[in-house]
Amino acid sequence: KVKSEGRNSYQFFKPSIQRSAINRLSLESAMRKAIERDEFVLHYQPQVHTHTGEVLGMEALIRWHHPEKGMMPPFHFIPVAEETGLIAPIGEWVVHEACRQTKAWQNSGEAGLTGLKVAVNLSARQFSDRELIAKIRRALDSVGLNANALEMEITESIIMNDINSTIKQLELLSEMGLDLAIDDFGTGYSSLSYLKRFPINKLKIDKSFIDNVTNSNDDAKIVAAIIGLSHNLNLNVICEGVEDSDQHNWLKTHNCNQIQGYYFSKPLPADEFESYIRNKNRS
Ligand code: C2E
Ligand code: MG
Ligand code: MG
Ligand code: MG
Repeated sequence: KVKSEGRNSYQFFKPSIQRSAINRLSLESAMRKAIERDEFVLHYQPQVHTHTGEVLGMEALIRWHHPEKGMMPPFHFIPVAEETGLIAPIGEWVVHEACRQTKAWQNSGEAGLTGLKVAVNLSARQFSDRELIAKIRRALDSVGLNANALEMEITESIIMNDINSTIKQLELLSEMGLDLAIDDFGTGYSSLSYLKRFPINKLKIDKSFIDNVTNSNDDAKIVAAIIGLSHNLNLNVICEGVEDSDQHNWLKTHNCNQIQGYYFSKPLPADEFESYIRNKNRS
């Protein structure tokens, strides 16, 4: 009796635990193969000057072109890549590929493609990697890209993790000539006093504030305050997730420097990004 009870309870718990463990394991091994098989791709979302509409740069966003499942967005695999440490080789590939593409656009000599700055997302594990600086240096040198064409995006939670080592790491990145942006700004717990101490260049106001910027007084006040803070601290400021012309107009009126969002374009494969720029030049 005891035995069968034990077996029942065991079987009761077994399927879900096993399923998730198997999923994780197969995801992990599939990701390892994906690196070798070159299944990751970067899409590029334009970052636009709020007043002139000029495309100043683009954020590189990873996708996994899975042989069976099709195009997989980052939330499907980046968290597991973080936990397993696979984010290290994947992240190295991202930096290298973003630099390679940006240099290729510089070399194209085409109007609108030569002066672009590329933004790359860094996860916590990558940011605390002692080899980070050397890896970025290698990527830049291997394609001959100047560091000032590269921007790194880090979230508030990463920054506030270990203040002293963060400052050191940010200073090293800044000395290399990279730009540094705080991603998803407003959703984490950053201490405002650190904004002055960190050698950062840009705040990216999170989409969740932009969603209701034209119909919520509170969100409007928050966004206006962050824009004001950025200007006072001489930081560049960009809003993400801009989806309509009302939001664009509001951000124009409130002097936000740059915007990024579906209103201008979704993240695009490299060839479609080129077409986007060419179309823009024509009109
Ligand atoms: P993120 O860095 O905050 O990127 C912005 C996300 O918002 C992107 O989602 C983008 O497609 C989406 N987005 C932009 N404009 C709009 C809009 O107007 N409306 C809506 N609904 N969404 C918009 P995506 O590409 O799925 O990336 C999600 C997250 O995955 C990123 O958030 C970033 O944290 C992470 N990620 C993406 N690529 C990389 C990478 O190469 N390395 C690392 N470590 N993380 C990455
Ligand atoms: Mg980002
Ligand atoms: Mg963001
Ligand atoms: Mg985000």
